[in-house]
Amino acid sequence: MPGRQIIMTFPVTATSHTLAEYRARGGYQALAKTLREMKPSDVTKEVTASGLQGRGGASFPMGRKWQVIVPDDGQPHYLIANADEGEPGTFKDRWILENNPHMLVESMAIASYALGARNCFVYIRGEFDLPYRRLAGAVEEAYEAGYFGEKILGSDFSCDIVVYRGAGAYVAGEASGLLASLEGKKSYPRNRPPRLTVKGLYQQPTVVNNVESLSNIAWIIANGAEAFKAVGTPKSPGTRLISVSGHVNRPGVYEVELGYPWMKFLEEDCGGILQGRAIKCVVPGGVSSKVLTGSDIAELNLSHEALWDVGSTLGSGGMIVIAEGTCMVSLLQVMLRFYHHESCGQCTPCSQGTGWMHRIIDRIAAGQGRPEDIERLYYISKFNDGTTICGLGDAAGYACTGILDKFRDEFEYCIEHKRSRFDGNLECLRSS
Ligand code: SF4
Repeated sequence: MPGRQIIMTFPVTATSHTLAEYRARGGYQALAKTLREMKPSDVTKEVTASGLQGRGGASFPMGRKWQVIVPDDGQPHYLIANADEGEPGTFKDRWILENNPHMLVESMAIASYALGARNCFVYIRGEFDLPYRRLAGAVEEAYEAGYFGEKILGSDFSCDIVVYRGAGAYVAGEASGLLASLEGKKSYPRNRPPRLTVKGLYQQPTVVNNVESLSNIAWIIANGAEAFKAVGTPKSPGTRLISVSGHVNRPGVYEVELGYPWMKFLEEDCGGILQGRAIKCVVPGGVSSKVLTGSDIAELNLSHEALWDVGSTLGSGGMIVIAEGTCMVSLLQVMLRFYHHESCGQCTPCSQGTGWMHRIIDRIAAGQGRPEDIERLYYISKFNDGTTICGLGDAAGYACTGILDKFRDEFEYCIEHKRSRFDGNLECLRSS
């Protein structure tokens, strides 16, 4: 991994995913400390005090989600790690699963203790092969070493962990869709309330957390909430793993202290834009986050609050950098094809709306756009907003209006001249 290492990254070797190396880095001391010195509520208090926000997209405070669970209320509780990383441009959880799976496994043992969960699950994307094998190997090592199973490390706490492979639906990454899939049903998201922390897996209180979010727990328990808060900004403590792709010289996964200057990150850590071109725009946190232009990000730092202030989000941490010369009509076409393909079909505004948006953008890109098409895309996007069960319908609209707002002139040009100003170029740097 290029870039600076702070909390969860380190120089990767061929064996850095193993238990022996994780222990050499201080691994499983946090679990031992938890079981020796802490009550379940102490763990939740520490996580709450750290200010850790979810790293999967919504950035919801982890501690607040955990506080809903009463560990000793006599009901079964479940903890699920959401490893169904399917947001386009996002590949940072995969890095953890491949290179540091024990950090997740140890953190899940600690989190299960805090939540009173006798069973926990990792729901992993079906297409992930190496991440699955590395994680399954880590779970096996953890059982052999007594970090999972009966009476963990001689304590009264017992817990089992199951790694479950999904079948490749984008909506299975949505928490309620994930639980449906885990129960053996179609991964249809469902309306809330009731919240999953009230009625989740098998109708029992369930916490679903993202892989990176959970992987911070061992570090927080080992080092304390104050040490965690000493990194980052007051409103965005800690670090984030950012997966960078697109037109940069050094794409990859980076651990970035929240609050780090955005342009410094792109120019110094990521090596700048390919062939020294200017930045046209950046998709900051997966395709569901609103696109920002080069001038939008010039003075911004990488923190949740800075992105929220400009109407976007760090989202899933999947940053796609796009250089000048790229065709935004073609880019939006790719995005809308994706949303249409992945709509599960339960909600009419989403299943029909994404279909209409896809067909409209296809004809614009083919040089057959109609003058009213831009307003139609806005209308459908607005119609989706808040009228669907899960966020996919909203996200398709946000992606669409985000690009139209910033690059409307390219769409008007394409409709008027019956061809793209950039000849449909999505890889503007390959031929130049
Ligand atoms: Fe399915 Fe789309 Fe409705 Fe989500 S918004 S439940 S993906 S139809």
